[in-house]
Amino acid sequence: MKIINPATEEVLADVELADVAETDRAVERARRAFPAWREVAPGDRARLLRRFADLVERHGEELAALETANAGHTAGNAAWEAGNVRDVLHYYAGAPEREHGRQIPVPGGVNLTFAEPLGVVGVIVPWNFPMVVMMWGAAPALAAGNTVIVKPAEWTPLTALRLAELALEAGLPQGVLQVLPGAGEVAGARLVEHPAVRKIVFTGSTDVGRLVAARAAATVKRVTLELGGKSANIVFADADLERAAATAPSAVFDNSGQDCCARSRILVERPVYEEFLDRLREAVADVTVGDPLAPGTDMGPLISAEHRERVASYVTGVPYFQGACPSGRGFWFPPTVLTHESLDDRAFTEEIFGPVVGVVPFSGEAEAVEIANNTEYGLSGSIWTRDVGRALRMARAVEAGNLSVNSHSSVRYWTPFGGVKQSGLGRELGPDALAAFTDTKNVFIAH
Ligand code: NAD
Repeated sequence: MKIINPATEEVLADVELADVAETDRAVERARRAFPAWREVAPGDRARLLRRFADLVERHGEELAALETANAGHTAGNAAWEAGNVRDVLHYYAGAPEREHGRQIPVPGGVNLTFAEPLGVVGVIVPWNFPMVVMMWGAAPALAAGNTVIVKPAEWTPLTALRLAELALEAGLPQGVLQVLPGAGEVAGARLVEHPAVRKIVFTGSTDVGRLVAARAAATVKRVTLELGGKSANIVFADADLERAAATAPSAVFDNSGQDCCARSRILVERPVYEEFLDRLREAVADVTVGDPLAPGTDMGPLISAEHRERVASYVTGVPYFQGACPSGRGFWFPPTVLTHESLDDRAFTEEIFGPVVGVVPFSGEAEAVEIANNTEYGLSGSIWTRDVGRALRMARAVEAGNLSVNSHSSVRYWTPFGGVKQSGLGRELGPDALAAFTDTKNVFIAH
């Protein structure tokens, strides 16, 4: 497959895609590597992961440059992502020595629990955040003693392939972490159905996630699903309006809107609706779209021509406001603000996964909750108010896995992340991530 730079349309690399036979060989290598890897002493497994993290640190600029070239991420974002990969590895390098079970009082003996690694884990990754999403699954899985096969998205395998080389250089044994570029319906589907793969971490669209869950059921495979979103950014009249409007563009247009947590629906309380729109227009006019490597660029291109066409199909009629973007080579799309006559407007209900945001008015908390929850998605969201009671009521009422108040932050590697409803199943990151990569074994020993 030809790997294309989305900002220039240049061919970056030719990558061979694994077929079913190659996928089976990778599973066999991972299966054979598992018994020795789980027996590596906790402190040694920790040290290997720390060494891997140190190599990521040393190659941070190279990894960031690769991500910018392959996925069009701005240089600033890509540098943050390389740092996040390093930090996630360091964080879970602290886990092996702490992965202890419990002793539960019972009559006539001793009862112990063990957190047992599952075996071979498949991590299926989307194209929007290739290296970070890979490591959110791979790092805790490895720390728990599993062997891992990463299936990157077709369009963006380059950082994953480089990370696999760095893992070997760090001393992780052959077969412990493999990266297998391949088509979703071929290599991805084979990992999901292979009986020796015990767990799938799937990050991607809700449609494919549903299919993965159904097929995984045939072998009772454990699944973690991180799926789509249509998150609400709810602005009350008592909020710091200036700040809410100034930060709203980055909350949806970061990574060109190709972010599962994008706050792509803005709900504004009626008394400040017009004022907010005016301020938002000004803030969106300031968003700089262009060369991802240029300092000061806020937004790069979309991932592909095909994806740009899909995004464009949502913008019918005259948008409320549209910013500027380059023309010519590269898959550019301008930041776009829509207002809606109807809440059933397809652009207001479906995940667009591009730089398009819809703004609607509401009256009072109850209506805000109703609109925010009127979706099958439930990944993230923001609440802007100066009333702490309202902030808490709203935070409990909005159906989402990750919410922020007077801010748009949602992902920190040391706090849990994931969706409710059809945005996902299970949680990644945070202190409990290893639970998703182990099964509890209970052992009773008679006195
Ligand atoms: P996608 O569902 O098309 O593909 C995701 C991955 O699944 C790719 O590696 C693809 O090759 C693979 N795949 C496709 N068909 C498969 C099959 N039948 N069996 C197994 N694997 C298969 O998603 P995408 O377009 O790459 O990514 C965008 C989507 O990902 C958006 O919906 C976005 O919201 C979601 N996403 C969610 C999170 C999260 O954490 N919740 C994070 C990033 C992206």
